[in-house]
Amino acid sequence: MVHFVGAGSGAVDLITVRGARLLAQADVVVWAGSLVNPELLSYCKTFCEIHDSSKLTLEEVLEIIKKAEAVGKTTVRLHTGDSSIYGAVREQFDALDELGIAYDVCPGVSSFCGAAASLKAEYTLPAVSQTVIITRAAGKTPVPEKESIASLASHRATMVLFLSTSLTEKLQRELIEGGYDEATPVAVVYKATWADERILRCTVGTLHETVKNSGITKTALIIVGGCMGEEYMRSLLYDPNFSTEFRDKKQV
Ligand code: SAH
Repeated sequence: MVHFVGAGSGAVDLITVRGARLLAQADVVVWAGSLVNPELLSYCKTFCEIHDSSKLTLEEVLEIIKKAEAVGKTTVRLHTGDSSIYGAVREQFDALDELGIAYDVCPGVSSFCGAAASLKAEYTLPAVSQTVIITRAAGKTPVPEKESIASLASHRATMVLFLSTSLTEKLQRELIEGGYDEATPVAVVYKATWADERILRCTVGTLHETVKNSGITKTALIIVGGCMGEEYMRSLLYDPNFSTEFRDKKQV
């Protein structure tokens, strides 16, 4: 059996209770050493066999899993954040299906949620944006043309950019081309929920300069949109003049 486990965004106690239990039971752990907090390995049992996937190919990961399966061992494949976001898990699922190896998935706290907590932010503010776009700038990995930054920017929704910290010059240009005002607020969160987390605040117009001057080149999220600013409407859900399924409006 293979358990795909989301490690959470960084802080060692942000893994789920289920994820920690699976780690503690695993005979073999293949972990994404480039991004997962190594302290999480302290949950593993003493004789657990540990492999760092940042040094491995897909084929090598599968080989480790196959060997473990052959002797009835349980493997945890530990991914950063939640494995559904840029996790390269689908190719592993399909290969395991072909090999007839059973697996399941344990969700994790994605870094975009960890970053919102660090920022004390709400991505879906009434009258500001009710949509969160999760995307990345095109780098070595291409992005389909229909999802160009400029076309997504035309919605002026909340945008969370993964894997884009080294591409801010082009990113800034395309965000503006697409429709964000230069004054649109931006937050850059480096290593959200880790001990050495850093938060930068700027605007779309000053994004490239801010990131360049900070020296941050990776492990950061760029969050763009009015939700990083000061203006919004309060919710109807908790408005005394508004009835919901669970509460009548207050008579005033
Ligand atoms: N599955 C992960 C994302 C993996 S892609 C998740 O759900 O978070 C790797 C990218 O995620 C990094 O380049 C960076 O953009 C972002 N990232 C991962 N952990 C982060 C963290 N703690 N703080 C900020 N960004 C992070």
